[in-house]
Amino acid sequence: MNYAKVTKTQLLSQYKYERQQLIERLQQKGIETPEILDIIYKVPRHFFVDEALSSHAYADHPLPIGHSQTISQPFIVAKMTELLWHNAPHGKVLEIGTGCGYQTAVLAHLFDQVYSVERIASLAGKAYERLKFLEFTNIAFSHSDGFDGWPDNAPYQAIIVTAAPESLPPNLLGQLDVNGCLIIPVGHTGQQQLLKIIRKPNCYEQHVLDPVSFVPLKEGII
Ligand code: SAH
Repeated sequence: MNYAKVTKTQLLSQYKYERQQLIERLQQKGIETPEILDIIYKVPRHFFVDEALSSHAYADHPLPIGHSQTISQPFIVAKMTELLWHNAPHGKVLEIGTGCGYQTAVLAHLFDQVYSVERIASLAGKAYERLKFLEFTNIAFSHSDGFDGWPDNAPYQAIIVTAAPESLPPNLLGQLDVNGCLIIPVGHTGQQQLLKIIRKPNCYEQHVLDPVSFVPLKEGII
């Protein structure tokens, strides 16, 4: 989407029918929380993908965002966000894998402050521009390796990871606040599970949720 050509108000009013259709599909698939459905309706997903893909933005499937990465399927974004919303205080959230910035925008509507980490500089730069255009004031960005988390602002009440490591990254566990919640896909390609981790005063509670398919969490920055 070439945002030099449209105003924010115009952007937010486009694809209303498709957005409503998406909300109905998400409800059929079991997303029930009104706050989550409301935000998914409001965030202009078509603004976060290449203009040539705009008309596909409200279909419930992943789309390419360049560099062999994908914007997650809306159902997965809604599901992971709903899990965080119900299991963590709504203070500071750390997002690993900014990508196009869509999940970041959803989180920024629901949490006080979002810290978002991306390893690919050009994706991070474009996401920054989009979220600035949408006038968010509660998002901080870091071009760095998400395996390290973002220690300066820890602890986080919520952590969401949108690419899959082969095992749980210890730094992310360490930066999770007590009573906080980490939602993360873990495992090799083709064998990933979505995990929900709750930090208790003396332990981490681990819940294995659904099988999922994410791009791998990779080490180092480019
Ligand atoms: N939430 C994103 C999903 C993007 S796909 C969106 O809505 O668009 C996963 C993202 O994780 C990619 O952008 C990829 O570059 C990023 N990523 C992979 N490994 C990473 C790492 N170690 N640190 C930070 N980001 C990483």
